[in-house]
Amino acid sequence: MFFFVEKCRICGSKDLKKYLNLGQMPLANNLVDVKSNKSDLFFPLEVLFCKKCFLSQLSAVVEPETLFSNYSYRTSISDTFIKHFSAFSLEVQKIFPDTKNCLVLDIASNDGCLLQEFKKKGFPVLGVEPAKNIAEIAESEGIETIVEFWGESAVKKVLQKKQKPQVITATNVFAHVDDIHSFVSDVKKVLSPDGIFIIEVPYALNLIMKNEFDTIYHEHLSYFLVRPLLTLFEMEKLDVFDIQDIPIHGGSIRVFVKFPQNNGIKTMHQNIRKFVEKEEKNGLYFLDAYKKFSFRVLKSKIDFLELLLELKKDGKKIAGYGAAAKASTLLNYCGIGTEYIEFICDDSPLKQGKAFAGNHIPIIPSNALEKTKPDYLVLFAWTIAKELITKTKEFQSYGKYIIPLPRAKIILDEKNL
Ligand SMILES: [Zn+2]
Repeated sequence: MFFFVEKCRICGSKDLKKYLNLGQMPLANNLVDVKSNKSDLFFPLEVLFCKKCFLSQLSAVVEPETLFSNYSYRTSISDTFIKHFSAFSLEVQKIFPDTKNCLVLDIASNDGCLLQEFKKKGFPVLGVEPAKNIAEIAESEGIETIVEFWGESAVKKVLQKKQKPQVITATNVFAHVDDIHSFVSDVKKVLSPDGIFIIEVPYALNLIMKNEFDTIYHEHLSYFLVRPLLTLFEMEKLDVFDIQDIPIHGGSIRVFVKFPQNNGIKTMHQNIRKFVEKEEKNGLYFLDAYKKFSFRVLKSKIDFLELLLELKKDGKKIAGYGAAAKASTLLNYCGIGTEYIEFICDDSPLKQGKAFAGNHIPIIPSNALEKTKPDYLVLFAWTIAKELITKTKEFQSYGKYIIPLPRAKIILDEKNL
């Protein structure tokens, strides 16, 4: 079901130092039935720092079969993501204006929401997605999808197509991959020689500097800075030609990669250097910065618990909003259950009627707010707090919001964000 990492998945070094221990935690996206009496599975959630290539990685790798057996994440649900994907496809269209002849392959394509945006711009598209129920949604919405994990068998199926993909995207999946060298080498097998490979990953600089520790859960095996990614692609004999900051998932980076012999695309050295300099300036190539981060994480836990405790002392009713995986990390790390937070609202039908593993806080539709009128609402997806506040205008007439991180605080509306 899981194994411990023995060496760095990028550079192979065994000099890995543990800097954060969130304890034994259940799987964030494996929701359980509210009335289930089966015991939940718990796995260690600890982060290690590679002193050679500066990659942060989990000490324990939960096998994909365990991790994805009861998976509930469907991307399309959030407006923020749809806008983001639309902008992304426009960015690619600038590089490949002749969209009709440019096949776009999306790895871990989920319900096809990114590919929909490419399709709208005339690109032929193909998805690869291991979760059968989610791939079926994509197919029903007109996105051809290979139901596989990215690997040998998926590669074979892609190579059977008339053309090689000129664009391969992997958004928010790279961090989930244990053997990233083989992932990249499989990409090289199918990518057209004049093609580009684009990954998007949450940026570890934000995780550390903005205290976004709730993005740590068992699915996210790696937390990337730019430096270790440059090392990875150099080892794989690929060229990184641009890196961009993307304001999603609390701050991500988009990394553009090509074959070295593809001279048609200019390398933006200045952009790449900017990231490395920022990482250096923040001390992120030394363990000390991570030890300080670990202390800030503990402080956040104490602050959040103190705030909830005060409100409970006054008999207040508290609910949550947004049953994202990050809510599971925060709640389980803080040891918070239904004695503090009675329920969590979420608009995804896949999640409603279920509960988080570990704390067993039930997930119900957001119209329940009107009936139950909680005094406080914790916005777990706090990095998109503004969007959530707009969605819950009605709630403001009787309740207040709690923003849990980076430091727990109470606000009335978006003006206090
Ligand atoms: Zn390393």
